[in-house]
Amino acid sequence: MNYYEQGEKYFLHAYGRQKIVLDHGQGVELYDTDGKRYLDFYSGIGVNSFGYGYPKYTQALHAQIDKLMHVSNYFYTPIATEAAKKVVEATKLSQVFFANSGAEAIEGALKLARKAYFMKHGKADSEIISFHSSFHGRTTGAVKLTGNAHYQEAFGPLMNDVKYATLNDLTSVKALLTDKTAAIIVEPIQGEGGVNPCTKEFLQGLRVLCDEHDLCLILDEVQCGMGRTGYLFTYEYYDVKPDIVCLAKGLGSGVPVGAFVANEKYAQAMEPGDHGSTYGGNPFVCAAVSTVFDIIAEDHILENVKEVSAYLEKQLDALTNEFDCVEGHRGLGFMQGLVLNKPAGAVVNEMIAHGVIVITAGTNVVRMLPPLITTKENVDEAMRVFRDVLSMQ
Ligand SMILES: *Cc1c(COP(=O)(O)O)cnc(C)c1O
Repeated sequence: MNYYEQGEKYFLHAYGRQKIVLDHGQGVELYDTDGKRYLDFYSGIGVNSFGYGYPKYTQALHAQIDKLMHVSNYFYTPIATEAAKKVVEATKLSQVFFANSGAEAIEGALKLARKAYFMKHGKADSEIISFHSSFHGRTTGAVKLTGNAHYQEAFGPLMNDVKYATLNDLTSVKALLTDKTAAIIVEPIQGEGGVNPCTKEFLQGLRVLCDEHDLCLILDEVQCGMGRTGYLFTYEYYDVKPDIVCLAKGLGSGVPVGAFVANEKYAQAMEPGDHGSTYGGNPFVCAAVSTVFDIIAEDHILENVKEVSAYLEKQLDALTNEFDCVEGHRGLGFMQGLVLNKPAGAVVNEMIAHGVIVITAGTNVVRMLPPLITTKENVDEAMRVFRDVLSMQ
């Protein structure tokens, strides 16, 4: 049996995987076990910000492996403290908790917002407002926050008291407010749901609403954060400050780490015993986090994203004009969706067969999440393949 057949045998069938067995990567390229080359416009779902084998990144991890991998959170380590300082200073928030994934960051943020409500009201009966087409992860709490019945229906009963509003419709949010509302959670740009950006008016409107009603604004930047959109945090583009921001994916750029970061008001609701994680923020993953911030600053990563993504958007305009099946594109920086007039799965599969890895978002959207080091030449290659594939549709 080859690795694909063995995989089918041994893994739970939780994923619809491509029949491709990847062997190694270099730069923005991946190679399968047959030696076939792929241009990566996917980054392992927006994780591998610096592609594969980026020397500063791999050297920092090698060094930390030799020093200390794990000690638990009963102790401090220099590297974890350094990572925490960088996260707090970069977000301009107050304190961070490191988790192991995006979903765990969401769970922690949810608990913190509910704890603050509990301290204020003396009752644990809070309600949360989330959005249709959102995605917040696969744990049972995060799946309840995810406004997509398909992800929920088989797994009930789930947590109560989550209501779903419509993105970019402030009236729909106001209609759901009650005395029990504790928090609003939103992705500044919905990823899995179809690359749907909030409008500036809307996200700023949510901030005003949260201030007026003393609610916690939780921004889920698990996918759009850490430089992906050309801003270290996408809320900088929106000029909106969250009470809590959730990070993961690009935060470790390849190691499993997530974080929720709170402002002073919410940070003080956390007391010893409220939350915890055995692995969360261990020295190994924190070496990655710390290095990620250094690389973004030292290697002019945000400048590259801004410049090359502007070029990418121009090329996507051209595709929109050339092909009837393309309705347009949306997104920010290196988080882009090409909107088709039909389901995107077939185009994604053909793109991969032709050596460019992209993914779907929602049903009709081809999503591009290239590594943040992608060049204009890489964009040109992807566009050549798009032309070949779209002209067959
Ligand atoms: C990927 C994602 C998550 C979940 O992250 P995991 O690491 O898969 O648990 C949550 N929110 C958003 C916006 C995501 O894109």
